Formats: sequence, C-alpha cells, structure tokens
Amino acid sequence: MQRILVVEDEPAIADNIRYALETEGFAVDWCATGEEALQRYHERGAHLVVLDVGLPDCNGFDLCKDIRKTSAVPIIFLTARTDEIDRVVGLEIGGDDYMAKPFSPRELAARVRAVLRRVPGDDSQAEPGKAQSPLVIDKHKAKVWYFGKPLDLSRYEFRILEALAQRPGWVYSREKLMELVWEEPESAMDRTVDTHVKTIRAKLRAVQPDVDPIQTHRGLGYSLKESW
Ligand code: CA
Repeated sequence: MQRILVVEDEPAIADNIRYALETEGFAVDWCATGEEALQRYHERGAHLVVLDVGLPDCNGFDLCKDIRKTSAVPIIFLTARTDEIDRVVGLEIGGDDYMAKPFSPRELAARVRAVLRRVPGDDSQAEPGKAQSPLVIDKHKAKVWYFGKPLDLSRYEFRILEALAQRPGWVYSREKLMELVWEEPESAMDRTVDTHVKTIRAKLRAVQPDVDPIQTHRGLGYSLKESW
C-alpha cells in the first residue's frame, strides 16, 4: 500500500484529504506542523508528500528544501494565496504539482495518483531501515542522492550510473554502456567509459570512502553490485 504524508495544519482540510486518499486505497499519515512532518518523514518515509505552504511553525517551501536534501519523494503543494502559486510554479522549489485552496479532495486524490504514475516508484524511499538503497536516482530531475547526499555528476556520469542501476548485478560491457549513454557512440573511445567510471567512483568515494558499489569485471565491463 502506498503511504502519503499529509502536512496540513487545518484539521478539517486534513480530514477531507485523508478521507479522499483512503477511499482511493492510500494509507495516510497526517502531521500538523513542519517539525513533526520532517521527523515523521525521516522515521517512516512516504511515497508522496502533500504539503501545505502555510504551516504554523515554518513555511512549506523550507520544509520541501529540507526533504529535498536527502530525498526525491514527489511533493504536491497546497497553496492558499496567488503569490505562493507564483513561487511554486516559477521557482525551482522542487515540487511536483500544486493545488490552490479551496480544492476538491477528490481532485487532489486524482493528482496524487497522476504524480505517482509519472514518478516511477522507488519503494526504497518509503521504507527507511528496510531495503533502503543508499543510491537514489531521480531520472526526471536527473539527480542522484548517495547516502543522503546529492551528487554533482556530469551528464555522462549520470547516464552511466543510471544505466548500471537499472539492473544491479548485470555486467554492462563498455560497448553497451556507450550505446546507452552516448548520442554518437562511434565517436567515443572505449577508454572514455573507463574515465567516466573513474570519476564517478571518486565522487562516490568522497561521500562514503569505504564503499565501492561499482564492480569492474576485467575484460567484460562494469556492474552495480547487488548488495554493498
Ligand atoms: Ca495552513
């Protein structure tokens, strides 16, 4: 069952949202403050967060930024004012969608479903402590988090890591990686893959020195280890 974290300080609105989401088969966690929400998120995770911008103890945008430090979980904002909508839409706040108050809870439930369909499920994010992958890749935003830290990867580094992560344990030959990653594979030389894997490894090591999730298969290619 997919779990939605609802952060909304008005109990009547929260109740309506909870009812609409539970009717659609979602499990709902409700928090009325930002502090509580952040703690709950880190403890239990969520498949999606519905986040009111106007909270009693903080601003929903700041809470979103805090969540984004470690997670690419989809976030739908609830906004009450037009200037908030401008910020959600115009700035790189990191939200996936928004609803302007007043809204229909059923419409919100439909948006939740749509966003979850668009963002392929990474169940690991929703189950901290249990099968949580230290490597989280958000294809749509081209962002990678490694042990909770965002990685600054070049385009090719990102694509190589993304390719390897699609099937942990599978060995990808240099040719296969070039085909998957480069627009014009014929113009790239074998060694280019090695060079990029080397820089990816250096960036991963900078975050976690004693872990090397990429395995070199001599004469064959590379794989992302299945467990590490
Ligand atoms: Ca509010």
